[in-house]
Amino acid sequence: MPKISGKCLCGNITFNADTDIKMMANCHCDDCRQATGAAFGTLLFVAEDAVEINGSPKAFKHTADSGAAMQKLFCPDCGSQMFGKNSNRESILSVRAGVVAEKDLVQPGANVYLSSKIPSTPVDPNVKGYDKMPG
Ligand SMILES: [Zn+2]
Ligand SMILES: [Zn+2]
Repeated sequence: MPKISGKCLCGNITFNADTDIKMMANCHCDDCRQATGAAFGTLLFVAEDAVEINGSPKAFKHTADSGAAMQKLFCPDCGSQMFGKNSNRESILSVRAGVVAEKDLVQPGANVYLSSKIPSTPVDPNVKGYDKMPG
């Protein structure tokens, strides 16, 4: 199983996991863009109990348009967005690709929420694309 590790910008929060990556996607939804300040968010979905987090991320809670209760976990010192939780996906943690040290592992298999992407964002035609989140 791949080793995944990383840290926030200031280094106060670090994480380690030895786990399979269940899915990887570029998410172009409004929430990911506003949370990260980036044109889209790239997420790695892993088993939450496989991830050891050192430090104390702060949680911002909000409701997604799906009705799911969302948590965005970030470093309270430097603001790095690191992890996410979704009440519709119990026991799954999403990890933001930008904080992952093993860059070669990051190979998104889908682009989701293309309906709300920034028009100028290039999209790889070889990666599956979805207007919203596929069921
Ligand atoms: Zn930090
Ligand atoms: Zn998103």
